[in-house]
Amino acid sequence: MYQKISWPNSKRFAFTIFDDTDRANLKDSQLVYQYLDELNFKTTKSVWVIEGNSPHEDSGITCDNKIYLNLLLELKNKGFEIGYHNTTYHSSCRQDIEKGLKKFVKMFNQNPNVMANHSANRENIYWGSHRLSGSRRVIYNLLTLFKSNKFYKGHDESSPYFWGDLCKEYITYVRNFVFSDINTLKCCPYMPYQDHTKPYVNYWFASSEGNNVKMFNKCISDENQDRLEEEGGACIMYTHFADGFCQNGELSEKFKKQMKRLSKKDGWFVPVSTLLDFLKKEIKVQEINSKQRSALEWKWLFDKLILGST
Ligand SMILES: [Zn+2]
Repeated sequence: MYQKISWPNSKRFAFTIFDDTDRANLKDSQLVYQYLDELNFKTTKSVWVIEGNSPHEDSGITCDNKIYLNLLLELKNKGFEIGYHNTTYHSSCRQDIEKGLKKFVKMFNQNPNVMANHSANRENIYWGSHRLSGSRRVIYNLLTLFKSNKFYKGHDESSPYFWGDLCKEYITYVRNFVFSDINTLKCCPYMPYQDHTKPYVNYWFASSEGNNVKMFNKCISDENQDRLEEEGGACIMYTHFADGFCQNGELSEKFKKQMKRLSKKDGWFVPVSTLLDFLKKEIKVQEINSKQRSALEWKWLFDKLILGST
């Protein structure tokens, strides 16, 4: 069982979102974030810093678009957090990564405290089979036919995609495992945690599965919301707000209804870094031991194989 947390201002639970920016456009981003703001959710919206140099199926709007950048700055002013989803929608070498990180700091006047790897990018840090260790890595490699065993190089000092030292310098929290349960903290009671086998990441966090509108709505069902509250837990939703939440300029009715219901509960609705900064002080585990790592990896592998988590 996980440690019972006394949330700030006697709140009963915590809820936030990390939105991976894949396929995002200006209009739909405005629509989603205006609604979240109305309901008083302050969450984390990730960005791509620089326009890519070639088309890509995941591509979406980047900070090179001035109107979009203004929207992001407005959101930041309102209390939302701007997170990092790598430099752009395709792989970037170290030189471009460094340029991108410096540009982020210049635009937002702060480091990108929190990030998630964009799955197609080679500079991803400890990604693919490197998310796991021991027998779990062997199983993962066999199941994925070794496809992502040597693809991801962000932590490999001999690679042109290496940026581990920059990750350590600029970024506090990196997402790894995504679980199907709404109570992220119950699945990963150590977060944010350090892992000495992955020294270029300062702290890791986990998330709950909400990849697209269908998965998101399923995870925050009325029943699950009530349980999150009862358990006094914390939920960090993983999602792509560009995937089905808006259709023909309208937000999903189900999403609206469920988020409205959740907003009326006595929850702590702060950005991902604010939540993790708080948990870091509350939770005594800083560095996970091999037993804890192994338990976390088995749980994720099970979720991934049986429930298709990310
Ligand atoms: Zn992505």
